[in-house]
Amino acid sequence: MLYYSTNHTAARATLRDAVVRGLAEDRGLYMPEVIKQLPESFWDEMASLTFQEVAYRVADAFFGEDVEAKALRHIVCDTLSFDCPVVKVEDNIYALELFHGPTLAFKDVGARFMARLLRYFAPAGENKVNVLVATSGDTGSAVANGFLGVEGIHVYVLYPKGKVSPIQECQFTTLGQNITAIEVDGVFDDCQALVKSAFMDQDLNAHMRLTSANSINVARFLPQAFYYFWAYAQMVRLNAGMAFNLTFCVPSGNFGNICSALFGHTMGLPIKRFIAANNANDVFYNYLQTGIYTPQPSKQTIANAMDVGDPSNFARILDLYARGVVGGSPADIPSADPKAVHKAITSLISGATYTDGQIAATMCDCYAQTGYVLDPHGACGYRALKEQLQPSEIGIFLETAHPAKFKDTVDHILGIDLPIPEKLQTFMCGEKQSVAMSKDFANFKAFLLQQ
Ligand SMILES: *Cc1c(COP(=O)(O)O)cnc(C)c1O
Repeated sequence: MLYYSTNHTAARATLRDAVVRGLAEDRGLYMPEVIKQLPESFWDEMASLTFQEVAYRVADAFFGEDVEAKALRHIVCDTLSFDCPVVKVEDNIYALELFHGPTLAFKDVGARFMARLLRYFAPAGENKVNVLVATSGDTGSAVANGFLGVEGIHVYVLYPKGKVSPIQECQFTTLGQNITAIEVDGVFDDCQALVKSAFMDQDLNAHMRLTSANSINVARFLPQAFYYFWAYAQMVRLNAGMAFNLTFCVPSGNFGNICSALFGHTMGLPIKRFIAANNANDVFYNYLQTGIYTPQPSKQTIANAMDVGDPSNFARILDLYARGVVGGSPADIPSADPKAVHKAITSLISGATYTDGQIAATMCDCYAQTGYVLDPHGACGYRALKEQLQPSEIGIFLETAHPAKFKDTVDHILGIDLPIPEKLQTFMCGEKQSVAMSKDFANFKAFLLQQ
């Protein structure tokens, strides 16, 4: 299978090149040329399959042409060493809990899959691959833990000194092995700038193989479709053969998570519609209302992993529905009528946007009425379902992280002392190891050249 760029000028790439490069040369995002339908037999069997088996069938549709079956099955099983259960919160509203992985957030799924696929394409013994990742908190921990102990790969996590919560920091500074944490004397944007400069620097690239592990990588975002199929399989069991209308509500920032669900829908997953729940960063919400996309500087909120003012995966959503409008051929996408694309998108996806005050009030209401502790991101999803779910529908919102990752905020809002799960406590016992770095690129480059 080949991958084209959403900017439609770069040459098409193999899966291997798309994974190793991350972004296409024309700065567009890679899209698979073909999105396969799953066979009838899969739907018939689905309710009796395990999570790993459901995920393998989906992975086979995405990657089966490019990865040997045995290796792919191994990658999928190794990635999904934890469950993603659907939990009833109240009548007709369920949480898809994505926080049972090593760093207690949904990013574990994509990061673990990508680490294993990268190793498959760049086996140990070949030139080592160096992954650079800038983080404001959650991405660094998921990527570092996803790649921990994977031979042939070294990860450098750059994070802003004093700007990351102690719980987040310990998740990537205490690991050792093939993970190096770099504490930058600056803000998140400085970390991002260092990583970008490194990718552009010819000396560095001649000296070492560099790649990025952010959410634009196809190996990080496509595997997220696994748990939408698994959630559906769980609902089929729960409804014991009765028909139901399913609505997914996804707390969204960079829109990688919801984008993988839209791919699932295109592959035949019977979802009636989607809701994209946002915090105060309402760029996508405004696009749905007006058809006009206007990026904004990001606004800081209590659901901070969704503080994105120009979501990268918006380009993929536009491309996916433009492709539908022009009848499926990637070559015709640039000529798609933007109004028709907007119509296709709004007929399937609605939006919501909430202030910090509304998020906090929702956490309190849900806790008082159901006893369920929402994290600030999941709270946006829950609230949008409460407001928009129709009586004929069953709604699932994604609990994208464990509330204890935001313990200070959650304790303060709910007036409780949330216990810290054992997995998080283990990280907190480890010894912090990090390399202090100025925000000056020359220092960072000299450091990498010595490695
Ligand atoms: C990354 C993240 C999000 C946003 O996901 P996108 O794929 O960027 O839309 C939501 N919640 C949590 C907890 C996250 O870490």
